[in-house]
Amino acid sequence: MNSQPRIPFVNLDRQYDRLRPQMNEAIQAVLDSKAFIQGPFVESFERAFAEYLNVKYAVGCSNGTSAISLALEALGIGQGDEVITVSHTFAATASAIIKIGATPVFVDIDKDSYTIDPRAAEEAITPRTKALLPVHLYGTPCAMAPLAQLAKSRGLLLVEDAAQAHGAKLGDNCAGAIGDAATFSFYPGKNLGAYGDAGAIVTNNEALAAQLRKLRDHGRRSKYVHDTVGYNQRMDAIQAAVLSVKLQHLEDWNIRRRELASRYDMVLRQKGFKTISCPDDVTPVYHLYVAEVSNRDSVAKRMEGEGIATGVHYPVPLHQQPAFASWKGAREFPVTDRIVSRIISLPICGELTNAEQDLVIDAFVSVAEP
Ligand SMILES: *Cc1c(COP(=O)(O)O)cnc(C)c1O
Repeated sequence: MNSQPRIPFVNLDRQYDRLRPQMNEAIQAVLDSKAFIQGPFVESFERAFAEYLNVKYAVGCSNGTSAISLALEALGIGQGDEVITVSHTFAATASAIIKIGATPVFVDIDKDSYTIDPRAAEEAITPRTKALLPVHLYGTPCAMAPLAQLAKSRGLLLVEDAAQAHGAKLGDNCAGAIGDAATFSFYPGKNLGAYGDAGAIVTNNEALAAQLRKLRDHGRRSKYVHDTVGYNQRMDAIQAAVLSVKLQHLEDWNIRRRELASRYDMVLRQKGFKTISCPDDVTPVYHLYVAEVSNRDSVAKRMEGEGIATGVHYPVPLHQQPAFASWKGAREFPVTDRIVSRIISLPICGELTNAEQDLVIDAFVSVAEP
């Protein structure tokens, strides 16, 4: 059995230690209320999260995957419709599209931001295309201006997968506040993470929010009246209470992540490593800190030996996955294919200290090659 690394990838132990009194009280309040599913704790979190993002509506749901499929279905997307997204993302982006009967159309990414290449998206449009589904991967907002322009000129819906981008900004707008709808995951390791599964869809469209509230809860209009065939994909109140506590710290954690990222950047770039770069008007939130190396296996092994956790997000792109390869089509993915064997994710989170980061940097530069 592996022992806990000296420097874990995300330090949730330390985070809970700091939040313990506040957190235990918030969870106790749900236990005392017995309002375990949806109800006032969920409504209160939905209002706070919508306000934080400066959007009109947030609809809590069971996880970030159901958030994507609920958003697409509520927007009228289904059988025969094509949804353009990236191959370089977590599997859920594609499975959520497929599970509502639609067809994912994978495209390549930009080599500097690791997010969707708007020109590749444009080239993939067909008469069946209904939506663009860009992913703000690693917490870096996609190039939303050209995507919004493309969606508008070609009559497409724009849905943002913001599962890794809580609080990221483009100019004054939050990632998630730009498209017709955006989806979030609160998986425990995300920048805003629950103590279990949870997700949300945000939108400024009132009718869409109402439809989402029905779909997530058995298609209900009221307790005994079902307007539509829905799902049980609700948010539970303990998760909402946890998220309400953590939301108050999210901005500080994101600031700390940016500080850590710029410390990493300073050393790594000077030594010739390629790291994430984004335009000046973008404020990323570094859900992951990713660098490119030519000897990844040796780097990961050496760091593991020194008790430092690393990750790869993601080693096998969706167009090469057994589950999704049949949707590859004739498209090519030169950037994705090149980077997937080079990328490595280093520890980053609101609780990582400078001293710990220095150990990570020392171990990394002693073995990594650009
Ligand atoms: C985490 C994640 C999801 C899925 O969220 P779950 O809450 O795990 O269902 C979807 N897309 C991306 C990009 C993610 O990182």
